[in-house]
Amino acid sequence: MKAAVIKKPGVIEVEEVPTPEPADGEVLLKIETCALCGTDQRVLSGEKHVDVPIVGHEITARVHSLGKNVRGVREGERIIVQTVIGCGRCQMCADHRENLCENTFKAIGYQFNGGFAEYMIMPKSGVDQGCLIPVPEDLPAEVGTLIEPLSCCVNGMNYIPMEDMEHVVVFGGGIIGVLNSLVAKARGVPTVTIMDVSQERLDLHKKLGLPIDNLVNSLGGDPVEWVMGHTNGRGANAVVVAASVKLIVPIGMKALRRGGHISIFAGMPKSDPAQSIDLNLIHYNELNVHGATSSAYREYLTARDFLVSGKIDGKQLVTHRFPLEDFNNAVKTQADPSTGALKVVIEP
Ligand SMILES: [Zn+2]
Ligand SMILES: [Zn+2]
Repeated sequence: MKAAVIKKPGVIEVEEVPTPEPADGEVLLKIETCALCGTDQRVLSGEKHVDVPIVGHEITARVHSLGKNVRGVREGERIIVQTVIGCGRCQMCADHRENLCENTFKAIGYQFNGGFAEYMIMPKSGVDQGCLIPVPEDLPAEVGTLIEPLSCCVNGMNYIPMEDMEHVVVFGGGIIGVLNSLVAKARGVPTVTIMDVSQERLDLHKKLGLPIDNLVNSLGGDPVEWVMGHTNGRGANAVVVAASVKLIVPIGMKALRRGGHISIFAGMPKSDPAQSIDLNLIHYNELNVHGATSSAYREYLTARDFLVSGKIDGKQLVTHRFPLEDFNNAVKTQADPSTGALKVVIEP
């Protein structure tokens, strides 16, 4: 089969490799579409290390063949892949919160080969956990790839009572900021604002016709003042930090109304993650601070339902498609804001 193989940090070659065979309990998948994500970019550029030569975890595929003793999966079934595989023994895994596995979860595209190839193995631990999640035949494969990143946003937003809210502000207009915003809209928030420092990005959202109420360039003025000016001086009900910029956290807190929620969705630079914040703002204003990391099975089902029902329109988010042979071009396109790329997918 063909696969995009990491030869050394920053060097990827599309080459012929042996098609894997499913061992006992494993399932061989034929990849329909696999999308590039920000984490893949960091791995492919050599900035982040993974244990395997083939990455890619936003996957729509078809079950090609089964190893021995596989139950609950049938050949020909169309599925998407749950990325995170928990240990299956801890209390978090027992509660189906595999993303919080107390023994550190493993993941497709990190510890197991991923979807930038014609075929991929779902390991036994993933099959047993239920990582092959059925999707309807008529769901476009490229829209199916959005279920994984959308499930992460569903997870982060689960901590926030969106149904009672007037105004949610998302800092960061990349695909993750957009998906968080669309979850807020799908959950009925009347006004959702994206703030970003890139006018190019905001123009792209407008061009794509995304249902975001306000697209605000945060370089154009004080973001806190903007929020206060658009909420009768009360502040936003919730702020989502969807960009890896530490300073957004204290700014976002100041933009919240009393009793507001802030979700720190983005991971911060590992070498320097500390940020000083005014704890009295949390204390006196009774702010709620939430984390978010990856997602578990239930959030995949919610994300799938949002996309299948059309409550979230996934079609407008995929801007570029490449065959596997053009993998390096796809990576360049995704990394270059001037290309107008929001979501780039590979069709092996
Ligand atoms: Zn991802
Ligand atoms: Zn566990």
